[in-house]
Amino acid sequence: MASVYVTRKIPEFGLKLLQAAGHDVTISEKDGVLTKEELLTTLSAQSYDAVLCLLTDTIDGEVFDAVPSAKIFANYAVGYNNIDLAAAAERGVIITNTPGVLTDTVAEYALSLILATVKRIPEADRFTRAGKYEGWAPELFLGSDMKGKTLGILGAGRIGSGVAERAHAAFGTTIIYYDVKPNPDFEKATGATYKEDVASVLKEADIVSVHVPLLESTHHLIGEAELALMKPTSYLINTSRGPVVDEDALVVALEKGVIRGAGLDVFENEPTLASGLAKLENVVITAHIASASEETRSKMSEMAAQNIIDVLAGNDPQNPVTSAPTAG
Ligand code: NAD
Repeated sequence: MASVYVTRKIPEFGLKLLQAAGHDVTISEKDGVLTKEELLTTLSAQSYDAVLCLLTDTIDGEVFDAVPSAKIFANYAVGYNNIDLAAAAERGVIITNTPGVLTDTVAEYALSLILATVKRIPEADRFTRAGKYEGWAPELFLGSDMKGKTLGILGAGRIGSGVAERAHAAFGTTIIYYDVKPNPDFEKATGATYKEDVASVLKEADIVSVHVPLLESTHHLIGEAELALMKPTSYLINTSRGPVVDEDALVVALEKGVIRGAGLDVFENEPTLASGLAKLENVVITAHIASASEETRSKMSEMAAQNIIDVLAGNDPQNPVTSAPTAG
C-alpha cells in the first residue's frame, strides 16, 4: 500500500479510485489553499509516495525536497504553470496533468462568457434586480451580434479550437487565429484564417478570445500596446491564465473606451482583482470556473488519480508533462 497526499478536497471519484487501488489517501483538512509553509510542513511529516496537487499550489524545488519519497505530483488541471518542471526533472519526479477531459466544458464556458459580455447579460441582470427597469426601451442595453462578426482566437489548441468551432457552427461567426504553429485541421473545420502575428488578429477581430498557456513568452501577451491595436467596438475574453493579460492596462482601456468590453474568468493575482476592475460595468468577471461542471471535475479527479495509480504500479502515466507546451 502506498500513501497519497491530496492538497485539497476534490470530487470523490478519483479519491475512491485511489482507495480501491489499495492506497492510503490523506486529504488536506483545510478549507482553502495551503500556504507554502503549510504545504512544506505537511509533506515533510510523512513519506508520501505521491501528491495530488492543484493549480493554486506552487510546486517548486523546495516542495519536492520536502517529500523526496514522492514519485509523482499529479496536477488537477490541464495548465501546469504552477509547477517548476525543471526542478521536477532534476529530481526525477514525474509530473502529470488532465488534458482533454475539460476541453468541451471550458470551450462551452468561454463561449458563454463571450455571449454574456457582448449581450451584456450580467449588466442587465444587475439593473433589473436593482429595480431600475421601467419598461422596454429602444436603446436599452444595446449589445452586439455574433453573426457577421470576426472571432480572433489566440492559441488554437484544444480549447481555442473548440470555442471557434462552436461559434462558427452556432452563429456563423468568421474565425481568424494566431498560434505559434498553424493548425490546418482547425482551418478545415471552421474556415479559419491563419494570421502571422498576434497584432493582425487584434486589429481585425471583433472579439478576441485568449487560449494560450501561461509561459514566459505569453506573460502580458496582451498589454497596453496590444489593447490599443484593437477596435474600439471590440471585446477581449480571457479564460486562459490571468497573467497573459496586463490587468491594470485592461482596466485603463475599459475605462477609456479603448475597447468596448471584456470577459474574464482568470486574473493576474487571484483571488485579488486589479484596482478598479470590479467597479466597471463593461466587464464580466467570474471566479475561475470555466472547467467547473460536475461531470468534468469528476473526470479530472479520475484522470489525476489514474496517473498516480499507474506510476505507483511502476507503469508510465497517461498524461506526463515533461516540458512547457510550446517554447514559442
Ligand atoms: P493546448 O496546449 O491544447 O493549446 C494551447 C495552444 O496555445 C497550442 O496550440 C499552442 O501552440 C498555443 N500557443 C503556445 N504559445 C503560444 C503563443 N505564444 N502564441 C500563440 N499561441 C501559443 O491547451 P488547452 O487544453 O487548449 O488549454 C489552454 C490553456 O487554457 C491551459 O494552458 C490553461 O492555462 C487554460 N485553462 C483555463 C481553464 C479555466 O478554468 N479558466 C480551464 C482549462 C484550461
